[in-house]
Amino acid sequence: MPVDRKALLDWYDRGHRDLPWRSDPTPYGVWLCEVMSQQTRIETMLPYWRGFLARWPTPQDLAAAELDEVLGAWAGLGYYSRARSLHAAARQIRDKGFPDTVVGLRELPGVGPYTAAAIASIAFGRDAAVVDGNVERVICRVEDIAEDPRIAAVKKRVSAHATGWLERGRAGDWNQALMEFGATVCTPRNPDCGSCPVSSSCQALASGTQALRPNKPRKQKQPQVRAVAVRVAESRGVLLARRPETGLLAGLWEPPITPSLETAPGTGHVEVGPVKHVFSHRKYLLRVFDAQLDGSPELVGDYVDIGFFDLTEPPALSTLARKILKA
Ligand code: SF4
Repeated sequence: MPVDRKALLDWYDRGHRDLPWRSDPTPYGVWLCEVMSQQTRIETMLPYWRGFLARWPTPQDLAAAELDEVLGAWAGLGYYSRARSLHAAARQIRDKGFPDTVVGLRELPGVGPYTAAAIASIAFGRDAAVVDGNVERVICRVEDIAEDPRIAAVKKRVSAHATGWLERGRAGDWNQALMEFGATVCTPRNPDCGSCPVSSSCQALASGTQALRPNKPRKQKQPQVRAVAVRVAESRGVLLARRPETGLLAGLWEPPITPSLETAPGTGHVEVGPVKHVFSHRKYLLRVFDAQLDGSPELVGDYVDIGFFDLTEPPALSTLARKILKA
């Protein structure tokens, strides 16, 4: 049974939150809102949204600002890469105009599929479907999708449903209705099925599976390896040790990594910083030290070889090794 679009839109029309970009959805205002609300609550970003529009009323004004000014005005919102992308995108808009299609919007720095569809539908009235966490949850429940929507094929199905559900000609309202419905009624825990406007078309409700959808089992936490890495750089070159021929990073060279400073080579250790590295099955959290070494290096731990190397012609290094050398 298809979702009851009319019931959902009526629900939205009756009582949606009165957010400023909804009454006047300019492309610039919607874009700012979508970027600022990523990983940030609406109540938190609203003063920033108003502040940006007051200080830089157009993308051209934002483009003319110095990056440092924009970063300063962003202070407190977090995830500063968003501010950098916003500034770079404003300069692209100044030079090439504001794109009005999903494809064109995707070319702006920091604009992914969700943001592009949101701007295209809300600001330009394009029939583009958005899929955020709220929409995904509602679709998995109404369509009673039992598989994990993080699986590529299932993600595609969810996306196809989102496009199929779209209220053509009112895509902006439809997308916002669906997102707001997911955020306020069809919530992750304890969905309010009793007052749900689309309960008659919800297959999960009919099967009693709504609490099991979306089916996203928790991924097992990766074990963490805490250790130290030691860098010795001197006229002989940089000290590197080679891993055994089997196991993790087999045969690759790296600055020696040992469980603690007591077992690490060298003397006069000075901590230079942490390095994090995530493998598919474990996470390395390393404290990196610079040190000196008198005499010949001795093998430590499981390493099968150790020696000094000229880094202009290094042996085979892992990404982890490069991170340690750069720390
Ligand atoms: S009936 Fe319940 S689970 Fe189904 S869409 Fe409505 S709120 Fe969500």
